[in-house]
Amino acid sequence: MAPETTPTASPPGGVAPTPAQQVALDLGRFVAASPSPFHAVAEVVRRLALAGFDEVDEAGPWPTRPGRHVMVRGGSVVAWATDAGRSPVDGFRVVGAHTDSPNLRVRPRPDAGAVGFRQLGVEVYGGALLNSWLDRDLGLSGRVAVRGADGTPELRQFVVDEPLLRVPQLAIHLDRGVNEGLKLDPQAHMVPIWGTGTPSEGDFRRFVAEQVGVDPDAVLGWDAMAHDLTPPTLLGTDRSLFAAPRLDNQLSCHAATSALSTLVDLEASGGPVPVVCLFDHEEIGSESATGAAGSLLPTVLERIAAAAGLDRDAWFASLAASACLSADGAHATHPNYAGRHEPGHLVEVNGGPVLKHNANVRYATDATGEALVATAAERAGVTLQHFVTRGDMPCGSTIGPVTAARLGITTVDVGVAQLSMHSARELCGADDPAAFMALLAEFLRLGSARVPVAR
Ligand code: ZN
Repeated sequence: MAPETTPTASPPGGVAPTPAQQVALDLGRFVAASPSPFHAVAEVVRRLALAGFDEVDEAGPWPTRPGRHVMVRGGSVVAWATDAGRSPVDGFRVVGAHTDSPNLRVRPRPDAGAVGFRQLGVEVYGGALLNSWLDRDLGLSGRVAVRGADGTPELRQFVVDEPLLRVPQLAIHLDRGVNEGLKLDPQAHMVPIWGTGTPSEGDFRRFVAEQVGVDPDAVLGWDAMAHDLTPPTLLGTDRSLFAAPRLDNQLSCHAATSALSTLVDLEASGGPVPVVCLFDHEEIGSESATGAAGSLLPTVLERIAAAAGLDRDAWFASLAASACLSADGAHATHPNYAGRHEPGHLVEVNGGPVLKHNANVRYATDATGEALVATAAERAGVTLQHFVTRGDMPCGSTIGPVTAARLGITTVDVGVAQLSMHSARELCGADDPAAFMALLAEFLRLGSARVPVAR
């Protein structure tokens, strides 16, 4: 059950949102429906179904007839279109992104408490800005493995968009030095309160059992996590900004899904297969059955090629004609910390999508990939910005380099500029999601991905 939370977008003075702001507001609906990777995947499938995509079960035979398809594996999803003459003979145009974001995840034996409070044991998932989770009203979502009616296990998703949890910060009177530097121990200080009284073994099991409509005894396990309840919103007197949780990287998931949906209805005859692959587990290094460092994308692409009748040699030729755009958040230059950024590569919100470069290939971008993105940007009428980290600071990374390594195809790292990356609530420009979507749509329909060496 996806919540139908409407972002608070009430325009001051009754001014109607611009087309770009409408894209941002739709992103807000996407984010609100996606408190966990599993919900993000369900929302992607729901939206793609409206554009004529049908769901493929990877445990069954692969569809050989041309069409629009989507396949789910856990918190990851892959969608592609082979209708309208699109064929892997011309290669693949892949847009990759990730569905997961740093958050607090419920432990297997979470029932805890002290001094009259009932608390929930959690682990920190990914590189969360821990302070951003303090003093927020938090809901819960995820999936629960249950013993079904006939005894066979099944997974059920749940979401509670109500204030259930809170991680209270220590009062300043008890921590006088706090504004010189807040220290948070994830084991001791990040345990949410979720009620009063005495905790008892089985409290959380009973809670999730009720959410998915089974007996507590039928609960076999869970992947459950907390989410901030503040709705996404346009922000600023000119509404030029957009605030929401999980912009890294549900902004890219939304842009890729929207780009693919609009693209498939355009006329095509021949041309490469557009693919959108949204991975789980980027925030913890991508090494999993559903992560970008695993077999998911190579397997799906090879099955698409095999179903289209390509032999082994044609499959490798198809890869050589392919390209991937790794879509993930980029750092906007922070006005209060401009010195943390490379002065020759300042990045502005609403300045257009950002190409991310790193000489040591923490980002996959090179001149070949840049040529492809520049071509797509020109066609989309979008300006590009460039990001590099300072020479005296370490660089982040994305699914770009691991995807490039797994497939051996040209890959380029591009994203939307944002502030507060990995906060429970992030901030980007209100115009950038629409520009990014336009860029991704043009990338997905690029005719040639070959950039030959002049001789
Ligand atoms: Zn990210």
